Amino acid sequence: MAEKYVPTEREQKFLDGVESPRYDRQIITGLTPFFTGKAPEDMAALYSEAELGELKKLKGTERDVEKRMPVKVTRHYWDLAKNSAGLRRLVKASPDETLNLQGSEDPGHQMDYSPVEGLLHKYEMGLMYVISTCSAHCRFCYREELIAQKDIERQDGTVAKKGLAQIEDIVAYVKEHNAAVEQNGGLHPETGREKLREILLSGGDPMVLPNAKIAAWFGALAEAGIESIRLGTKEMAFFPNRFDDAFLAMLDRFHETWPDVGFRLMIHFNHPDEFLLKNDDGNYRQNPNGSPMWHPDTKRAMEGVVSRGWVNVENQAPIIKGINDDPGALRIMQRALYRVGVGNHYFFCGRDIVAYKAFNVPIETAWKTLNDSQKGLSGVETHARMSITHYKGKTEVAAVTNEAIPGLAGSENGVVVFKILRNAASAPDRGKVCIVGRNPDAIWFDDYEDRVLYDEAGLFDYARVKKASLEATGTEVKP
Ligand code: SF4
Repeated sequence: MAEKYVPTEREQKFLDGVESPRYDRQIITGLTPFFTGKAPEDMAALYSEAELGELKKLKGTERDVEKRMPVKVTRHYWDLAKNSAGLRRLVKASPDETLNLQGSEDPGHQMDYSPVEGLLHKYEMGLMYVISTCSAHCRFCYREELIAQKDIERQDGTVAKKGLAQIEDIVAYVKEHNAAVEQNGGLHPETGREKLREILLSGGDPMVLPNAKIAAWFGALAEAGIESIRLGTKEMAFFPNRFDDAFLAMLDRFHETWPDVGFRLMIHFNHPDEFLLKNDDGNYRQNPNGSPMWHPDTKRAMEGVVSRGWVNVENQAPIIKGINDDPGALRIMQRALYRVGVGNHYFFCGRDIVAYKAFNVPIETAWKTLNDSQKGLSGVETHARMSITHYKGKTEVAAVTNEAIPGLAGSENGVVVFKILRNAASAPDRGKVCIVGRNPDAIWFDDYEDRVLYDEAGLFDYARVKKASLEATGTEVKP
């Protein structure tokens, strides 16, 4: 471990002016308050008696849903979810989740990219786990192993829970890496990677941390020479009042102190019901000009960040069965977000997390859902791409065709074209494609293994991934 971190004078001055209010999110944690009748009366309606009976039967068994993924909900989210089946599914534990526990404990083989506890170093970018919880929990979470504090096998064969990043370790690593890159003419002498330019604060949700802690990370990263900081959060949906004057003042002070360091807020809305107001008939309320009306708390929060022109705000979200696998909802969401200055970055296919079959829609369905949602939108509203996170890196589901390609055996039902957007280990791989014959039921890459037609991207050099994910559940590994 590196020596205790000491802020610079400039950092300390910035930190001295940061205000860290406490917030009352009115969170219900776990199912026990519902089982014991201790949940506030109005929020108790989240589960019916029958649902609680089913969930209680699973308590302490292999199929305990809370053991797979802890349960948590804020009052703000529950108020929205009352009028939205998709939102209820997002936060409500369901016995279906643990019917099939197949999946990977370390989706994307993230531990392969972790040189320091709590950091994933992916080419020019680092992702840090700075906290292991959120204000509420999405049942489909692809960080369930971190949030549920499960044991993960490391590259060296040891088994331990995922730890959180510590400022002194990260700063030491960034400085060492970037010094080696500089001395070697722009590429790291051993890994061939470029400068570590950008760091993403992730978790869990960093917005659960107090402003002082977020500011400590920002200051330390800026002083270490990081050019751009990202923060990934779902707090706009779970508790938008967190984006208050104290937080915005901290951002402003940060920008004044380090004007050359970029800041990007990566938000996570799955569904427009998370921020738009509805009428009693279930339709969205409209402003006089016909545009949809935002929830006042979310509107205030969003205006606060977007009005700072130096803050980029981008939305990204997975497409999940029963939550947002709906082209109409995605169309409204993309249009409404772009109108207030939020970019639509990625939509994701669900990952191969433990129990992924309960949440993921087939890859081709997800692509079609997004493609249909973008029909009739303008070009600027349709920047979002359909991405699937291969262990090599972000991969676009670029196209799904319906017709056979003349002369190409295996393409009789059409093909799926994957394209590497970024390889976490090798930048030159960008743009390489892989073409497979269609399989409308495919939920993960292994469902295409028997129909690969062309693979310059190397997506199906995949034996270790398949073996690990199947062995984890005792499923027979096919030769
Ligand atoms: S907000 Fe993100 S990290 Fe938190 S539970 Fe949802 S998906 Fe997981």
